[in-house]
Amino acid sequence: MIKSWSDLQSQPTVARIVTNSLERDRIAHAYLLDGMKGTGKKEVSYLFAKSLLCRERTGVNPCQACSNCKRIDSRNHPDVHVLEPDGNSIKKQQIQYLQEEFTKTGLESKRKIYIIEHADKMTKNAANSLLKFLEEPNQETYAFLLTENVNQMLNTIISRCQPLSFRALTSEGLVNKLMAEDISLPLAKSAASLTNSLGEAVELCRDDWFALARNLVIKLYEAIFNRPQASLLFIQEKWMPHFSDRRQLEIGLDLMLFIYKDMLYAQLSKEGQMVFVDEKELIQKLALQTTQQRVTEHLSYILQSKSRLASNVNPHLLMEQLALNLQEGY
Ligand SMILES: [Zn+2]
Repeated sequence: MIKSWSDLQSQPTVARIVTNSLERDRIAHAYLLDGMKGTGKKEVSYLFAKSLLCRERTGVNPCQACSNCKRIDSRNHPDVHVLEPDGNSIKKQQIQYLQEEFTKTGLESKRKIYIIEHADKMTKNAANSLLKFLEEPNQETYAFLLTENVNQMLNTIISRCQPLSFRALTSEGLVNKLMAEDISLPLAKSAASLTNSLGEAVELCRDDWFALARNLVIKLYEAIFNRPQASLLFIQEKWMPHFSDRRQLEIGLDLMLFIYKDMLYAQLSKEGQMVFVDEKELIQKLALQTTQQRVTEHLSYILQSKSRLASNVNPHLLMEQLALNLQEGY
């Protein structure tokens, strides 16, 4: 959990905008926090709420110890309301309930805060209700709208909010978040190389299909070097049944690309950048048997296969051709 604005190193722009407005006491009545899952929107909205309500604030940072800070942390401050989709959407009644709450004066202070998660999931009626609310803001009311899909929100709402755009996680940041979810380093590194969305990466890692896909990539890689005559049979019997549609095969080819890139990292003594960290010894050993130029050629074969996959080529033939190309010269 971030405890102060200087902890927010992954989102320097957001931190700068927020601390500037806190320092100058020029707080907008509505903020739109947009960015992918896992980028810290919720944490920032809670920290902001604490900065606004803390009784012992030092500079821009909340004390984290007063009764207001503590109750915001435990989600039971009477003047901080959090709205989430009820089922698939945020309904008009939910916004109306919120508005009724806000016509009462703040229970404890004059300030009232509402945080709407997945604000893009408001129904049209809900959004129109909220719009009226945003058009006539109460002096001491602050709204934080959080979304992963800003393009699905009404322009009329967007234009009434101060934007806070959260940038995507770096690959390293994503790996750390995945490991905090008890996902192993090799799996986390593989997923983080395929996507920079935390949601997608978690989904991949929790799917047994992905772990098995990774194992098949290692086996094919090893077969190409050590048992080339067996690789075509392997493709037919093991590979094709697992990578049975184009999207899956694309992931398979991407993973092939990463394991060959790892070979290049091994040759350049940059093992820290490897994706298949659990196969470091095998990759280092095979990297010694070839040259950087050959590996670069191999990478281009894999990239060609990826682009041919996008056209309507037979996937089985494509894989066989790739295996033959990768075996050249051994
Ligand atoms: Zn406090």
